[in-house]
Amino acid sequence: MRDIPKKNEARPRPNLRRLAQVVGGTVAVASALLICVIVYTGIKANRTEVQAERARIENALNQSVARTLDQQKSVAWWDDAVRLIVDTPDPGFIDSNFGIFLTETYGHDEVYIVNSQNEPVYAYRDQGRQEPDAFETRRQEVLQVLTATRTGGNAGLAERDDFFSERQKHYEVLKKVLGVASWQGAILTVDEKPAIVTAITIVPNVDMTLLRQPPYVLLSVDWIDADFLKQLSQFLLIPDITFTAGQNTGAATISEAFVTDDNLSTGYLNWTTKRPGQPLLTIVLPLVAVAVIGLSLLCAVMLRRLIRASNELSAREAAARYEAAHDSLSKLPNRPAFVLAANQALNGLQERGRGGSLTIGYLDVDRFKDINDTLGHHIGDGLIKAFGERLRQHLGPHDFLARFGGDEFAIFRSRRGVSFAKPLASLVVEAFEQPLLIEGHEITVTASLGLAQFPEHGTSIEDLMRHADIALYEAKRLGRGHAAWFTTQMAASLRQKREIEMDLLEALNGEQFDLHYQPIISARSNRIVAAEALLRWNHPVKGMISPSVFIPIAEEIGLMSKLGDWVLKRAMTSAALWPDIEVTINLSPAQFYQSDLEIRLRELIAETGVSPTMVTLEITEGLLLEPSPRIMATLQAIRDLGFQIALDDFGTGFSSLSYLVEYRFDKLKIDRSFVSAISQAGSAQTVVQAVIRLGHALGMEVVAEGVETVTDSVTMRFWGSDHLQGYFFSRPLPADELIAFIGSYNSSSVALQFDEASNLLQSNGNVG
Ligand code: C2E
Ligand code: MG
Ligand code: MG
Repeated sequence: MRDIPKKNEARPRPNLRRLAQVVGGTVAVASALLICVIVYTGIKANRTEVQAERARIENALNQSVARTLDQQKSVAWWDDAVRLIVDTPDPGFIDSNFGIFLTETYGHDEVYIVNSQNEPVYAYRDQGRQEPDAFETRRQEVLQVLTATRTGGNAGLAERDDFFSERQKHYEVLKKVLGVASWQGAILTVDEKPAIVTAITIVPNVDMTLLRQPPYVLLSVDWIDADFLKQLSQFLLIPDITFTAGQNTGAATISEAFVTDDNLSTGYLNWTTKRPGQPLLTIVLPLVAVAVIGLSLLCAVMLRRLIRASNELSAREAAARYEAAHDSLSKLPNRPAFVLAANQALNGLQERGRGGSLTIGYLDVDRFKDINDTLGHHIGDGLIKAFGERLRQHLGPHDFLARFGGDEFAIFRSRRGVSFAKPLASLVVEAFEQPLLIEGHEITVTASLGLAQFPEHGTSIEDLMRHADIALYEAKRLGRGHAAWFTTQMAASLRQKREIEMDLLEALNGEQFDLHYQPIISARSNRIVAAEALLRWNHPVKGMISPSVFIPIAEEIGLMSKLGDWVLKRAMTSAALWPDIEVTINLSPAQFYQSDLEIRLRELIAETGVSPTMVTLEITEGLLLEPSPRIMATLQAIRDLGFQIALDDFGTGFSSLSYLVEYRFDKLKIDRSFVSAISQAGSAQTVVQAVIRLGHALGMEVVAEGVETVTDSVTMRFWGSDHLQGYFFSRPLPADELIAFIGSYNSSSVALQFDEASNLLQSNGNVG
């Protein structure tokens, strides 16, 4: 029962949720990664560029130091310089070749010369020669460069690439000079401003005998001022290289403390960096971010839709599952759901072992068709609903109720051990003690119940269901409001019925049918006046099968109108050959319902050439249970054709005398059960006499069926029966035997027997 779907039982699909999470997560991570990569690449590109720019500036400064030394070298390494500065100083020479030359040609700002004892001998600054002592104002600031030149070390100055020394190696002619010369260049803080300070020894370049020990030293100071930096900018293609006291700010501005080689800092070196990563950060990044956000939104929307669609699908599936397992009218589980639940219960019982039972009940509403036909389908539907509802109220929590369709319901109940629950049969009876109220109609119903139980009546649900159905069939036969337990005998008769069903279809094609004829004797003349055609089935395996067995089956499976037609044709053909006797033919109600009987009879009259006045058609009371205008019209039409109509088996149906009055039959056949009962004392005698009088009063001839003895014959004749039919005269015979029988029949000897018998009876006082 647990697995029968409940209403609105939609469940979200875990796979889809997981998928949504994975997709969402992946998109988020991928987006974050992409943005990170862009940001990193942009920043990295900017940083690398700044480093490269810094290295280029540094390099350019080193080149400047080397260039300044080169410029000094052009005058310091010179025989004339040694002669005219050291040996016989010539101020004019020194001015034009040192002070003026270096400042004006190369832009040095200050030029000094010191002697072997580092005493100043020459000073040139502010566009003019100064007293040599002017050097003293600079001595401390340039002392490290001077000392390094003298000692060959670096005198505590910061290391810097020495391009000048590098270049000298290429000059072959300077080899001698290089052996004696020394120099030093650095960037120092001079007068609180950065400056290139270079020092180089003044030595001969050709006549090395001129060399004095220790040599004089030429010193230059060249400030790194705005002009210098402007040139640097143009040379390096780095815009706006400037030097400021304070730190500059700006988006693309690099402003770094400028530390001179003597480890002093007096300001900041600034420049505008190219920022190659900027397009990445300002254009690509926003675009990508927008794209990523858009994509994420799109993804989110799509996933949401997908989840919603999937949820709707689940809901629809659940509804479909529910509908597939339930009956739409009563809302009860349907047959497949019942089978599933019953199988689960049975499996449960079998797994747990130690016995237990399971009962399956099939039930239907008695006379549901009548109610439906009389009160309409609308009420019929309401009845089904109310019936199911009422049952559910009365059944216990362990009873499973289902509707199989139409007015068919089923219950199963499984239990282990002893049950104190009321038996299903009494529950069902109790449930319908009170009438059902359907749209203002109080309808009293009863139900028939067929029961089968595990394990006695079957070990599979399939078998149990089949057997409960068979039991229901039997319960129905017992009348309204009955319950019946399955028995093996029921199954056997049902099986036989099924076999007959199968064989009947073949029999009609295989000419296994034949007609026998039973003579009917006139009670007045004792002559054979008629013969009743009776259908015979000679089954190739089972032998003769009685029409009372196979005709109801043929009616049930819709074969009777075809079979009846065959009988009509065969019997009317015979009747045409026997002009002296009447032929009576049995008609099934099916022949009235399924075909246009009147037309068919007209055709057969034409075909066989029979006179309808010599044919009696027998109908049963069953046909008149629900006499519709159509049936009445057909009966009248048949009669108008000239046929006589007999009412067969009178007294066995739900005889209502009203239709006898309403419709005049030509003949009334008293059922043989009454005839056989007259030999016993009792009310049968009175009934039979009354029926005969009634028939006569209504203008009908009366036929006594089942006359088996001479006593029956005499009695029926005495009471006024017009015709006699029964084994006493003859059993039903094949056509040729009937002819032979008629030939050998001696009505006088029959009359004699009757006279003897009636004398005997009268003397015994049994008749009269
Ligand atoms: P029915 O029309 O009442 O036919 C009389 C039945 O009583 C026949 O049974 C007949 O053999 C039997 N019978 C006659 N005399 C005696 C007797 O003295 N004692 C006893 N015990 N029985 C006697 P049958 O031939 O087995 O037919 C049974 C029923 O089947 C018929 O009852 C009739 O209702 C139906 N039937 C037979 N042939 C046809 C047919 O061609 N069409 C239709 N629609 N029904 C047929
Ligand atoms: Mg009959
Ligand atoms: Mg009969």
